[in-house]
Amino acid sequence: MSATTIVAVDARPLTLPMREPFEIAGGAQTRVENVVVRVRLKGGTAGFGEAAPLPAFNGETQASTLKAVRGAAPALIGEDAARPLLLARKIEERLGRLGAARAGLEMASLDAWSRRARFPLWAYFGGAETRLATDVTVAIVPPHEAARAARRIRRLGVKTIKIKIGRDPDDDVARVLAVSRAAPKARLLLDANQGYTAAQALAVLRALSRWGVKPALFEQPVAKDDWDGMARVDREGGVPVAADESVSGREDAWRLARVRAASVVNVKLMKYGIAEAAEVAAIARAAGLGLMIGAMIESSLGLGCAAHLAAGLGGFAFVDLDTALWFTRDPMRGLKLGPGGTYDLSAVKAGVGVAPSWRDGQ
Ligand SMILES: [Mg+2]
Repeated sequence: MSATTIVAVDARPLTLPMREPFEIAGGAQTRVENVVVRVRLKGGTAGFGEAAPLPAFNGETQASTLKAVRGAAPALIGEDAARPLLLARKIEERLGRLGAARAGLEMASLDAWSRRARFPLWAYFGGAETRLATDVTVAIVPPHEAARAARRIRRLGVKTIKIKIGRDPDDDVARVLAVSRAAPKARLLLDANQGYTAAQALAVLRALSRWGVKPALFEQPVAKDDWDGMARVDREGGVPVAADESVSGREDAWRLARVRAASVVNVKLMKYGIAEAAEVAAIARAAGLGLMIGAMIESSLGLGCAAHLAAGLGGFAFVDLDTALWFTRDPMRGLKLGPGGTYDLSAVKAGVGVAPSWRDGQ
């Protein structure tokens, strides 16, 4: 046994109301129902991970995630946290496609090891960059509310605004135009969360173009299995398409690389954990696809870890790590979004640099 041997793994719910319902094409989320994982090492160090299950994505819930993490815990006791890829393999063998549970366990183990060995996680991933500027999202709301949100976002110094669409093409165009008028200099990203057909998606882009609005990215315009439709929007729309829900693992990334049905891949830790996220990014990069880092509804713990991965690997042109802003209170201490929506990871001395506000051992 060494100081980095895992001696305890536990999980507790992280439940919080959100500031307002987060409305997207598939429905609204009103509460944060996540799980915080803690891994304790023989040397006494503890590390923390967040699992943010999204039932609509793969059926994972807070309850099933607590159960999955607790069920996998015995298999990790006695393993060395300094061997993250071996751990990731064991976790995947036990949990399969339960991406949020895998992410929570991997994150807590990586955090514990890197705290113990005193290096920041961005260094583990490669240290390509240490700063990352995120977009801020406008959910599906009426145009006047979207305009108000856009002005607030610009006042924060944030340069990229992501707009949720995919519910009703006319309403969606009105919302995007309202944001564009309220924040004319902002870079705009659209996310339809599978809400359109290819024809609808192309019609929305044409309508926006008549008003002189050209988004920088169009995320998941069509149903996740409609690869032909996605390819058509990417080819004919004049705006790069990002595959999010369509890519739920390394096999999907490889398929996307082969058939080139989109130009960008949205990488999320909660879809497949951390080791596989790095694989998805490597496959995308090798295929010449662009990279986006995204998140489910995560606190600064999950977002921080995603920021370390994206900055450490480098080359992520699209950063969507803003969900902590939706929380009624911040349950974490440590790394925070700074001016202009920037994560400055150079200040992190060890681990993710984020821990629950409750006292360790409570
Ligand atoms: Mg998305």
